Amino acid sequence: MRAVGIVGTGTMGAGIAISFARSGWDVLLYDISKEIVAHSLEVIVKEFHRETEKGRIKPEDAQAAIARIHPRTGLSDFSEAHIVVEAVTENLSVKKQIFASLDVICPPQIPLTSNTSSLSIGSIANGCAGRDRIAGMHFFNPAHKMKLVEVVKTDFLSEDVLQELSQIVRQIGKTPILTRDTPGFVVNRCARHFYLEPLRFLSERLGGIEEIDFAFESAGFPMGPFRLLDLVGVDVNFLVSKSIYEQFFHEPRFRPVILQQKMAESGLLGRKAGKGFYNYDGKTPKAALKIERREAMISESLSEMAHKISAKLEITGQLNVPQQVILARTISMLINEAHLMMEEGIAARDSIDLAMKLGTNFPKGPLEFSDSIGKYMIAEFLQAMRRTYGDAYRPSLLLSQ
Ligand code: NAD
Repeated sequence: MRAVGIVGTGTMGAGIAISFARSGWDVLLYDISKEIVAHSLEVIVKEFHRETEKGRIKPEDAQAAIARIHPRTGLSDFSEAHIVVEAVTENLSVKKQIFASLDVICPPQIPLTSNTSSLSIGSIANGCAGRDRIAGMHFFNPAHKMKLVEVVKTDFLSEDVLQELSQIVRQIGKTPILTRDTPGFVVNRCARHFYLEPLRFLSERLGGIEEIDFAFESAGFPMGPFRLLDLVGVDVNFLVSKSIYEQFFHEPRFRPVILQQKMAESGLLGRKAGKGFYNYDGKTPKAALKIERREAMISESLSEMAHKISAKLEITGQLNVPQQVILARTISMLINEAHLMMEEGIAARDSIDLAMKLGTNFPKGPLEFSDSIGKYMIAEFLQAMRRTYGDAYRPSLLLSQ
């Protein structure tokens, strides 16, 4: 029987444990205290019961999976593991310490992986002797349900370990996507624009919350950006944006939006706080911020180009000019980021599309959007945006050439 060692048994560690245990792996669970591990085991058992009730797993299989999960009180027990997944708090010095210990405890051929969302795998691995077996394994929340795992490769990672990690991800019923070590990896980096553009548009008073969400939902996105921000947490999303912006040395296209900072600071955090972009006290959530729209500020040429772009999308509702413009802006930026990632060799074309569809439930990958709209039209729209709003909209060379 193969065993996975999981360090950090919070939200992600518990979901990762479920994924491995139900695929036949022994799971060693470790956290800073026995009590935290015991609590996590309770959460895991409850989740298995819920899955049993829903008929997603047979009771005897759930029992067998639970029996394969073993609490551990020291990291030294991880010498028995065949792979380790670290899912502790997002803190570089804590993660570095854990990897330095694991590097000594675990035999040299054992892959050591981190589930970090925003830290560089290279910096976590720096200082370890076995950098060739250290990689990212980025699961999505809820980890036992989401199919995508970004396997993050540094320049030091060995080809054998990379292959082994992809196999393990498939064996636990998930889809591995290979990405290089870049801030936010593929999904969090590309998806930034799904939040940032609508936030800028709202701040510029060019459209309202419900109006913008409606535009995206009409174009096949399962949830508009503001509904999604409220679900994820306005504060949590803001921290990711800030971290990616810092790591890109203040690249203008990743600049966070002050409106979001103000909301996070004043406790308008979304569903968990009862109020964010929407108010959750009534039966149907209603937009919490009213804005006076300034439609006249959108130039005629931008409106015309946006109209042509939205005509290429499969849209179910009637959209007004601001709605067409925000869709064109956001989708163009998603497409641009995908091209920039290809330019930099971060991930392959198909991997980017698959990652975005599995990681965000977007109706199409950014490169599929690019194919249906046409690269020329996107590049032209971005150039026009750049003339009006500046370098944040600089098209990638792959788009503009
Ligand atoms: P969490 O706060 O729910 O759990 C973190 C756990 O780590 C806690 O139980 C804590 O006690 C434990 N911990 C802290 N220091 C430790 C140490 N020195 N040794 C052992 N355990 C320690 O956090 P989470 O949401 O599960 O996130 C964990 C990691 O996964 C982070 O790196 C985060 O960026 C990443 N991630 C989170 C999500 C998400 O949506 N929550 C999604 C993808 C990736």
